[in-house]
Amino acid sequence: MLNFETGETDFENRLTGPEEQREDAAMGESLRPHSLAEYIGQTRVKENLKIFMDAAKGRGECIDHILLYGPPGLGKTTLAQVVAAEMGVNLRITSGPAIEKPGDLAALLTNLNYGDILFIDEIHRLNRSVEEVLYPAMEDFGLDIIIGKGPSARSIRLDLKPFTLVGATTRAGQLSSPLRDRFGVQLKLELYGTDDLATIVRRSAGILGVPCDESGAMEIASRSRGTPRIANRLLKRVRDFAEVMGEGVINKDITDVALSRLEIDRLGLDATDRRMMKLIIDNYAGGPVGLETLAAALGEEAVTLEDVYEPYLLQLGFLSRTPRGRCVTARAYEHLGIKQGAPSAPKQLRLDEEQ
Ligand code: ADP
Repeated sequence: MLNFETGETDFENRLTGPEEQREDAAMGESLRPHSLAEYIGQTRVKENLKIFMDAAKGRGECIDHILLYGPPGLGKTTLAQVVAAEMGVNLRITSGPAIEKPGDLAALLTNLNYGDILFIDEIHRLNRSVEEVLYPAMEDFGLDIIIGKGPSARSIRLDLKPFTLVGATTRAGQLSSPLRDRFGVQLKLELYGTDDLATIVRRSAGILGVPCDESGAMEIASRSRGTPRIANRLLKRVRDFAEVMGEGVINKDITDVALSRLEIDRLGLDATDRRMMKLIIDNYAGGPVGLETLAAALGEEAVTLEDVYEPYLLQLGFLSRTPRGRCVTARAYEHLGIKQGAPSAPKQLRLDEEQ
């Protein structure tokens, strides 16, 4: 739903939403890891990247183009910054929708120095004409420019300095195959486990200068939906409660109080998640229900459901995807305290009884 004063939607303000919000950007920079050693979790991705970086350094070349994919808030931008720092090169950050015309991309590319990294977030949203400029740039470090108009128009090729493109996307499947194939390295980021998230919480608490014990870090971690961005955001909120209602120390008890008040349950589900699962149970007998139907009923975009709500519910095993649509699982019924098979829509029940 749109807030007409701020122009933001409920989803944008959602405490457990993985997308970047204004307050994240403000604290984000100080909490971002700067080296591979500081970057917690994602072991397989880090190991592979280290090999590619060492090999490129050994050959004195720049690292191959890298595609990072996975849900928002898992550290794709951070990883691009880490690679730039480890390779000792500059990083230029932009996003698919921000590059409107081929000329915008040409300007970015011609300003890169040897080995620099161009990071394009949401690369699946590049428009086709821009994407076509990217192909020769990625493949041969060349830029084809058309000079003149009509019959006298001719194409000249401009040489670019070798660079690395790091593309990030929440939906690798939406990338055209010519673009996807031009990334030599493709790495999938997974949702984080609780232990890794607890380490991230402790590290962030240290940077923010707020005492946080082991039980507090674990409690925040287990309610962060596998996402570091959410873990950092919850940490900030719990800190407020700890300072006002407690003794300034984050422990399990104060985290419980704070997050229960904010309606985030022990698994990190908020009112929106519960509404989505209850809707499937109440209106569609637990499913299957098509994604578009579900999105319309919730007043959300289908892509938002797929990218933002579903990954965590799928990981918890609360939701399953079938060819006929989404289904709520027995585990979700149990978590919500609803008996499976029991009619849970009071309206429906009354109608049946009247007949
Ligand atoms: P994405 O680009 O995938 O949306 P970001 O790179 O912006 O995510 O990460 C969001 C925040 O989470 C960052 O500000 C950073 O502080 C934190 N973060 C992400 N990954 C890690 C990690 N592996 N270790 C520590 N902090 C992390």
